[in-house]
Amino acid sequence: MARLTEIGWEDFHALPLEAKRAYLERTEGDGMPYHTLFAQQFDRATLERLCALANRIRFINKSKEGALYLKSVLAHKRAMLYFSQPSSRTFLSHLAACQIMGLTTGSVRDAATSSEFKGESHEDSIRTFSSYFDMIIMRSPEQGLAEKMAWELSNSSRPIPILNAGSGKDQHPTQALLDIYTLVRSFEEKGGLDGRTVVFCGDLMRGRTVRSLSYLLTNFRDVRQVFVAPQELQVPADVVMILAKKGIDFEVTDDLRGAVKTADAVYMTRIQDEWDSSKGASAKIDTSRFKFGAEELKLLPKDGIIMHPLPRRDEIATCCDHDPRAMYWRQMRNGMWIRAALIAGTFGFEKTVMECGY
Ligand code: ASP
Repeated sequence: MARLTEIGWEDFHALPLEAKRAYLERTEGDGMPYHTLFAQQFDRATLERLCALANRIRFINKSKEGALYLKSVLAHKRAMLYFSQPSSRTFLSHLAACQIMGLTTGSVRDAATSSEFKGESHEDSIRTFSSYFDMIIMRSPEQGLAEKMAWELSNSSRPIPILNAGSGKDQHPTQALLDIYTLVRSFEEKGGLDGRTVVFCGDLMRGRTVRSLSYLLTNFRDVRQVFVAPQELQVPADVVMILAKKGIDFEVTDDLRGAVKTADAVYMTRIQDEWDSSKGASAKIDTSRFKFGAEELKLLPKDGIIMHPLPRRDEIATCCDHDPRAMYWRQMRNGMWIRAALIAGTFGFEKTVMECGY
């Protein structure tokens, strides 16, 4: 079995993402991750299992008896939420997911309140957390840090799983899981996700949710991907290369209205100006044609949906909020259920929950 203890950091790091997957599984060939680091770890079968588990958890949680049962499943586990980058939804929904499954939690939300402020390395901080907890859910501005920490912990005397809750401009796998769960639920009674058109719009260059979701969509049959952005913020080459290599039908354009007319889902994103190399650089880009408002709403097909990883600024007009096709609020709640499913799966409780009597 491929184990992180049997491969050096440099060799592991150099592997293509898809080849890393085998090293990150709970048990060989099972598909369920131990460490969750990037979207390339999930194939269609695992995605479908996680969606089914999320549905099961949300159903069980409806009754008091069911909710109390869920709370007992991981009551013997503790999770650390280590967020050194701003977050509202991702932090709270992981916290709520832990609470649903009964884990007790601790958190650091600001490196200034931890010993990192005194000069402690990330490695030492994470080793410290692993002394007290059974899982680390982490968000960091540093690309690749979650991967390095996963390798370090697996090679330590107290290996515990890492769950990447957003790493740099790079990946946001659990956001992509909730996006897929939202898409699957939205189309489940309308013929499914296969054959659909998903339009991404906004800052596709620096939006990590786009990179992760674009990859997950390649697991579905004939899903066309359309990328709408100003030239400076268009989808990066690594994403395009993956799609081209996999023979995915995709288009790169600056015509939002044209794309909306053909969309089953429009995935809007905000301008990620925190990554600007010089202050105010993004403000100089003309983004006026990359906003979803009343006109776009009229063009969206009647079964089409509007998504957003949030937070939003002005890229979706508030006049869209009450349209039944606006899915961004439901997306948030879906995040809590799919994260509860992922945490249960990570600890090996998928079967227990699926087969419980509730
Ligand atoms: N919440 C998402 C993220 O953490 C999207 C965003 O911040 O724009 O990447």
